Amino acid sequence: MNKEYIYLDCAATTPVDPRVIEVINKHLKKNYGNASSLHSLGLAANNILEESRESVGSIINAEKDDVIFTGSGTESNNIAIIGAALANKKRGDHIITTSIEHHAILNPCKELEKQGFKVSYLPVDKFGIINIENLKETITDKTMLISIMFANNEIGTIEPIKDIAEIANDANIVFHTDAVQAFGKIPIDVNNLKFDMLSASAHKLYGPKGVGMLYMRNKGKKEGRGKYCRPIMFGGAHERNYRPSTENVPSIAGFAKAVELAKKEMPNEMKRLTKLRDKITNTIERKIEDSYLNGHPTKRLPNNVNFGFRYIEGESILLSLDMEGIAGSTGSACSSKSLEPSHVLLAIGLKPEEAHGSLRITLGRFNKENDIDYFLDVLPPIIERLRKMSPLNKDTKYIIKK
Ligand SMILES: *Cc1c(COP(=O)(O)O)cnc(C)c1O
Repeated sequence: MNKEYIYLDCAATTPVDPRVIEVINKHLKKNYGNASSLHSLGLAANNILEESRESVGSIINAEKDDVIFTGSGTESNNIAIIGAALANKKRGDHIITTSIEHHAILNPCKELEKQGFKVSYLPVDKFGIINIENLKETITDKTMLISIMFANNEIGTIEPIKDIAEIANDANIVFHTDAVQAFGKIPIDVNNLKFDMLSASAHKLYGPKGVGMLYMRNKGKKEGRGKYCRPIMFGGAHERNYRPSTENVPSIAGFAKAVELAKKEMPNEMKRLTKLRDKITNTIERKIEDSYLNGHPTKRLPNNVNFGFRYIEGESILLSLDMEGIAGSTGSACSSKSLEPSHVLLAIGLKPEEAHGSLRITLGRFNKENDIDYFLDVLPPIIERLRKMSPLNKDTKYIIKK
């Protein structure tokens, strides 16, 4: 791919930071030992593994032993949701989540429904935020797990996670959050926020694909209630039995490097990206009529912009942008190959045709201000051209403000 390509799809995945690649390569070459072996190559691998555990945990203030490395964000979510359901069956059969979760939460929940569990999917308001009173009312004496995402991957909305965690804790219900989009992007402190479990994934923060982590408070034991999550895979005794497989030490070390960089750069990156994000939002609102921001204007991730454009389809905007050397998205990468409108955009109240007309731009570490200026130059004429061709727009006269 030509190096001028402007990548604005960082919620789908991020490019791997060259400093991370360096670490992975070094360990691939030198540290190929099995971290469970007792010879010195094994011990070296085990040391790297344990140091990485410490670094990855430190960004959320987690105890090193509460960090479990997994194969992905999806895997972390499956262990959390299915494992908690299995461990808490005796207590109840009711799970609470939201209607805007990633499919890596929704689909394990659907599977549990097939097995007889009951799942409540909380609705959200027009910004994508759940209602706290509604959450309280939904809890029953059978509720044994609450799983609510930290920040949404399509519209960037940040949930009132501190209030949610407090409610779950007061009711002594296991609380999990899918923090894949928030981890390393905005501050998270597991002690302040009282999560029992939290999922993250390396490839969303400039690390390699195929490595995730699941934080489990107190090694998976809740005071007075024994284990709150049971393993769902069985094999060796790796990762406290929750993820039996020979650890992918080079990638885990790469994850640790990515976290170390994220920790160091977070305060500046948050400011820089928020400024770019708001520049995009303000410019689109000023230049393109019949466009609207999806998600909350301020309670949102610093790198996320999601806009709806009336009368046209998101897909066609994407293809036109791609021809200009810009990568964007219509929503979640996981559902973008299906023709179903986004469940997130429907949940915030958009009509199916509106949900089809949206564009997600997610920024990252390697985007410069002139990339954004270029994007903002090419977008309005693309929208104008597509609207001229659009059958939905026969009678509309004009749209681009001069
Ligand atoms: C990307 C993503 C996942 C899945 O993570 P993988 O490592 O790709 O399996 C889960 N949840 C959210 C919110 C995501 O954005």
